[in-house]
Amino acid sequence: MKQVYYDRDADLGIIQGRKVAILGYGSQGHAHALNLRDSGVTVRVGLQPTSASCARVRAQGLTVVEPAAACDWADVIMVLVPDTVQAALFKDAIRPNLRSGDTLMFAHGFNVRFGTLDMPGDVDVSMIAPKAPGHRVRELFEEGAGTPALLAVHQDASGAAHALALSYAKALGVTRAGVIETTFAEETETDLFGEQAVLCGGVSALVKAGFETLTDAGYQPEVAYFECLHELKLIVDLMYQGGLNYMRYSVSDTAEHGDYTGGPRIVTEETRKEMRRMLAEIQDGTYARRWIEEDRGGRHWFNEVRAREQRHPIEEVGASLRSMMPFLKSSGPQIPGAVVPGGIAAENAHPAGEFAQVGNGAAALE
Ligand code: NAP
Ligand code: MG
Repeated sequence: MKQVYYDRDADLGIIQGRKVAILGYGSQGHAHALNLRDSGVTVRVGLQPTSASCARVRAQGLTVVEPAAACDWADVIMVLVPDTVQAALFKDAIRPNLRSGDTLMFAHGFNVRFGTLDMPGDVDVSMIAPKAPGHRVRELFEEGAGTPALLAVHQDASGAAHALALSYAKALGVTRAGVIETTFAEETETDLFGEQAVLCGGVSALVKAGFETLTDAGYQPEVAYFECLHELKLIVDLMYQGGLNYMRYSVSDTAEHGDYTGGPRIVTEETRKEMRRMLAEIQDGTYARRWIEEDRGGRHWFNEVRAREQRHPIEEVGASLRSMMPFLKSSGPQIPGAVVPGGIAAENAHPAGEFAQVGNGAAALE
């Protein structure tokens, strides 16, 4: 069995003796800053002065300064800005303020794994990656519980990188649920594969294809929506609670029979071959290179696909059906440019970083 660390394995005193800069105050940033503060750690948040989040940081009683000033002050720097922003922020604000003996931390290994950062050899580099969206990391902490997390050490200049990362994990509350040791490569590659093949790409494509097959055949879009999207949550909840066995135990024998006959017709040898190709492109850096180029080039393709997807017929029928179910959280926040009952939500309908905190799966996957 893999090594799993719990509260008793970590010494909170280590991180309490350091000065921690939290760069970014989005989904993960606000949870890390607040949990660490509540665990007795000295924290400063680093944000651009123009950031709308600065007011929120101050309202929570925390100190916010510019990223470079936060890095200069700190001896532990946790990087919680978007992965696509990290290389530039590192060059401008982090690298000039890294001193021998400092610790640089991440919540996802993308930039370290794909070598976009020119890191000096005399600092420690580690990762604490909660396996949950930031708002859950905060909520569960306040309830006295925690989310699981992954720990990795990329560079151990001091010889104490592991103990410090574990101490940070305890302050964040994740050693309450369990912290599993991994590497930057394993965390990054499995994370990218999971979101492309299964969690985001695979599931959305499956939902849309099922919906389109039914509506093309003349069935009502409302019925197709409930069948192919809404009910997915009920099935996933059963899987989450007790694995595939519990889901199959809970559904009817007919549904279970359909599981065994239908599954292999959808995920064929061809699909598996494509999954292996996808994984190979992640491992050899092809995927990362393309995404970085797309981002730097202005995200034209990405924005076009996003706009098209936001107006898919399943979103139209879904928006009006969900508006009749006010108990659903998703009827609250508006996603800029997406379909809402009676039209399209305004661009910038909410402050940046906010919908990363809504209970959506995507936020959990970065
Ligand atoms: P996020 O919600 O998008 O928040 C990003 C934060 O960074 C915002 O506060 C934003 O400022 C700030 N920011 C953006 N550009 C900046 C810049 N140039 N300088 C300073 N601050 C800047 O990001 P996130 O989802 O928390 O992701 C942070 C890291 O955690 C990523 O490495 C991600 O892979 C990892 N992670 C995320 C999750 C998750 O659940 N979201 C889970 C595990 C790991 P504003 O507030 O002004 O927009
Ligand atoms: Mg410093």
